[in-house]
Amino acid sequence: MTGDLQSEVIRAFHRKDFTTPVVGITGGKGGVGKTTVAVNIACALADRGVRTALVDADVDGPNGAILLSVELANPAAVDITVPQIDAERCNGCGDCVRACRLHALFQPRGKYPQLIGECNGCEACIQVCEAHAISRGRKQVGMTYLSRIDGLSLYTGALIPGFEESSVVVQAVRERAFADAEQFDLILVDTSPGAHCNVINALRGADSVLAVTEPTPFGLHDLELILNLLELLELGGSVVLNRADLPGDRKKIKTVARQHSREMIWEIGMDDLLARSYAAGVPVVREYPQAPSSKVFQQLAENIAATYGI
Ligand code: SF4
Ligand code: SF4
Repeated sequence: MTGDLQSEVIRAFHRKDFTTPVVGITGGKGGVGKTTVAVNIACALADRGVRTALVDADVDGPNGAILLSVELANPAAVDITVPQIDAERCNGCGDCVRACRLHALFQPRGKYPQLIGECNGCEACIQVCEAHAISRGRKQVGMTYLSRIDGLSLYTGALIPGFEESSVVVQAVRERAFADAEQFDLILVDTSPGAHCNVINALRGADSVLAVTEPTPFGLHDLELILNLLELLELGGSVVLNRADLPGDRKKIKTVARQHSREMIWEIGMDDLLARSYAAGVPVVREYPQAPSSKVFQQLAENIAATYGI
C-alpha cells in the first residue's frame, strides 16, 4: 500500500461524527498500572471541571470501577447474531458449513447443519444460504455499564466469562460512550494490554495515546511493540513510565520512546501514598493530592487539557 493510500485508510478508520477529543491509554504489557494511570488522570480532569468520560475497554478484566469504588450501573446487554437453521427449508447443500471460517457448523451425513463451535456472529452462513433456511437468533456475550461518580462518567465493558467475543464488547462499550460524546469535553479510553485487535478496536477514533510502561526488560520489549502499533495507526502522544524507580534501564526506555518520536516522557515513581490509595480503592489524586504521584497525574491532566483547549 502506498503511503498516501495507507494514510487515507487510517483517517477513515479513525473518522468520527463528533468533535470531543478522544485520548487512549494503553500499554503492551499487563500489570504496569495502566488503569491506575487512566483513573487518576480522569479524576484529575473531572476535578478541574472538565466533563470527562472514562471508557474501561479492558473487557476481559475491567477494573476501573474497582479502583473508583463505584458500583456498575445502567446495564445494557451486548449480544451477537447466531444462526438458527430451519430443517424444513434446508436442502443440505452445505454452503453455510463451507462459508464459516470458524468451523462452527457441522453437518452430519444426510442431515441439516448444527452449530457446534464458537460463533462470532459474522452472518456469512446466512448470506450464502440461497434457500433462506437460516434466520437470526441472538446470543448474549457481554454487558456494558454506565456509572457516574463525582463528575466522572465511567463506561465499562464486560465479557461474559467463557465467551470469546471480546472485540464485540469492546466495540459496544466504545460506541456507547461515543454516542454520548457531545455531553463531554474529553473521552479517555483505557484499553486492554497487548497489541492485538481488541487494542486496535479500542483505539479507533483516538486523537492521541498515552503508552504506559515500566523500566523492566519486559516493559521495554512491550513498549516497542505498542509504539510500532501506534505508528501504524498514525497516533501520536507520549510515554508514561510507571514505577520509574524500579531497577531497570530507564535510559533505554527513553531511547526507544525517542526513536518513535515520543519526546515527552512522564515519570511516576514508587509512591507509598499511591499504594495506600490503591488498597483503599480511592484514586490517589483525590485521597492524597499532595503525593508525588498525584502531582504527575495533575500535570498530565493539565497537559491534556491544554493540548485540546479544554
Ligand atoms: S446453506 Fe442453507 S440450505 Fe445449504 S445446508 Fe446451509 S442451511 Fe441448509
Ligand atoms: S455467523 Fe459466522 S461464525 Fe457464526 S456460524 Fe455463521 S458463518 Fe460461522
